[in-house]
Amino acid sequence: MNEQNVQGLRRFRPHPRDTAFMKLALEEAGAALAEGEFPVGCVLVADDNVLARGHRRNSRAESRNEIDHAEVVTLRRLLEEKPGIDLGRVTLYCTMEPCLMCYATMLLSGIRRFVWGYEDVMGGGTGLELNHLPPLYAAMEVELVPGVLRAESLALFRQFFKEHDYWQDSFLARYTLSQSSEERS
Ligand SMILES: [Zn+2]
Repeated sequence: MNEQNVQGLRRFRPHPRDTAFMKLALEEAGAALAEGEFPVGCVLVADDNVLARGHRRNSRAESRNEIDHAEVVTLRRLLEEKPGIDLGRVTLYCTMEPCLMCYATMLLSGIRRFVWGYEDVMGGGTGLELNHLPPLYAAMEVELVPGVLRAESLALFRQFFKEHDYWQDSFLARYTLSQSSEERS
């Protein structure tokens, strides 16, 4: 069986090609870290083609907002470059589990397959039980693939939390710094 049923949510094991696309998302996360941003990278893929890639912006104190998350930045880029694209065929690769805002934005945009690396134990939104929500959401069939290259993503967050103040001393920061850096996904 490829499918696990966790709290009514459909979670799948990764396809081998998911690792290759996650490596591109990790490159984006590394670029974010190099800019002093929260190290989240994202790639949008359809039919084995990378359609858009991007990373977190404006997580730093002087320009901080909670809108320019990697997923939103990347989706905006895709929609600007390829307006009218069928997002139902798109897989989202993100180095961190999407938050509630990003998960909802991607769902409303038509994306149904989500692959991520490191779980967001503080703000992850993918545990949302869609079948408890109104019909628009309850009818959505979503595929969730957690933990792809988790250790590589975790390493970037460990480095970030040692050096930067965004979400410093938060539950996520403490959880991240308590994780073993020896684990390999
Ligand atoms: Zn987000």
